[in-house]
Amino acid sequence: MYLTFLGTAAGCGVPSFYCNCAACLEAQADPRCQRSRCSVLIQGQKNTLIDTPPELRLQLIREKVDHIDHLLLTHWHYDHTGGLGDLEFYQRVHRREVIPAYMTEDTHSWMKSSFWFLEDCFYTKPIAPGFHVTIDGIKYTALKVEHTPGTIGLLLETENGRRTVYIPDTGPLPGSTIELIHGIDTFIIGATFWGRNWMPEDHLSISEAVEIAKQIEAKQTYFTHLSMHHDTPVTNQELEAYLANFENHFHLAYDGLRIEI
Ligand SMILES: [Zn+2]
Ligand SMILES: [Zn+2]
Repeated sequence: MYLTFLGTAAGCGVPSFYCNCAACLEAQADPRCQRSRCSVLIQGQKNTLIDTPPELRLQLIREKVDHIDHLLLTHWHYDHTGGLGDLEFYQRVHRREVIPAYMTEDTHSWMKSSFWFLEDCFYTKPIAPGFHVTIDGIKYTALKVEHTPGTIGLLLETENGRRTVYIPDTGPLPGSTIELIHGIDTFIIGATFWGRNWMPEDHLSISEAVEIAKQIEAKQTYFTHLSMHHDTPVTNQELEAYLANFENHFHLAYDGLRIEI
């Protein structure tokens, strides 16, 4: 089974259209440093999409993905759901069967008000922290995180016993979640800010995410949901150099990176 990072940016994307900081200049000069908003695709026999950011259509074209079998939403924020409408014509014209979609009650009520015209495209199944669901042989457990109400993280357990955690958007993790995910194989964590964390209740800075990753003792960790230009701009080169200081297996996620889970 594979996990592909479709997008790895926080809400503003990298580069931002209004910004000329060092990180945005680096991304303008080198397309490998460009980051679209956060989502991942899980591929086994089926394609399971986690979140639908505004760049979804371009992400799927880039990765040559021609079908989506299941959808999971971590929360309703625009950077994670703005591309939900990209699935409308796929569903109505091509697939013609409803897409099973897992989300919390808060996310579902947001969808009913913001994307009411898509209600019949999805067969919505409620999940909440502690709920399990098996999709394409992977057991997904919804995890409690600290973000807007109704946000979840996901623990993925494959049939070969490997455990992967995907938490793109959170503040300091609740103790119960830390306990549950200790010693996992792969930890993917949102590390939004470099320098000052100006939203400390519901986001992490890179150094805070590093501390959590050390505590969890995952075999390998990937940092995603990277702002790069708030509060202090940081280039990929600088971040890679910072992460090389640690003995742990810490990596930056990039758009298009594919890992085995
Ligand atoms: Zn976000
Ligand atoms: Zn968010």
